[in-house]
Amino acid sequence: MALGGVCEVCQKSASKYKCPVCLIKFCCVACFKTHKASDTCVKPEPVVEQKPVEEKPYEFETEDTVKQEKLNLLRKCLGI
Ligand SMILES: [Zn+2]
Ligand SMILES: [Zn+2]
Repeated sequence: MALGGVCEVCQKSASKYKCPVCLIKFCCVACFKTHKASDTCVKPEPVVEQKPVEEKPYEFETEDTVKQEKLNLLRKCLGI
């Protein structure tokens, strides 16, 4: 009885190792090399939530707001 299951490369021997990249199980270095040579070694997508870059509701200043601010400042300075 194999604890870790069967090698996912040769599907014969008990798997002893895990690929550090894609985490498939393999039994020996030879299988690992075979696995690496194939296209199946792909890093699983990280489950980190991707922040939506676009959604900044009220952060960026438009030219209008800048102008308005400067206008207000100017007014204060001039004491109008
Ligand atoms: Zn194997
Ligand atoms: Zn791999």
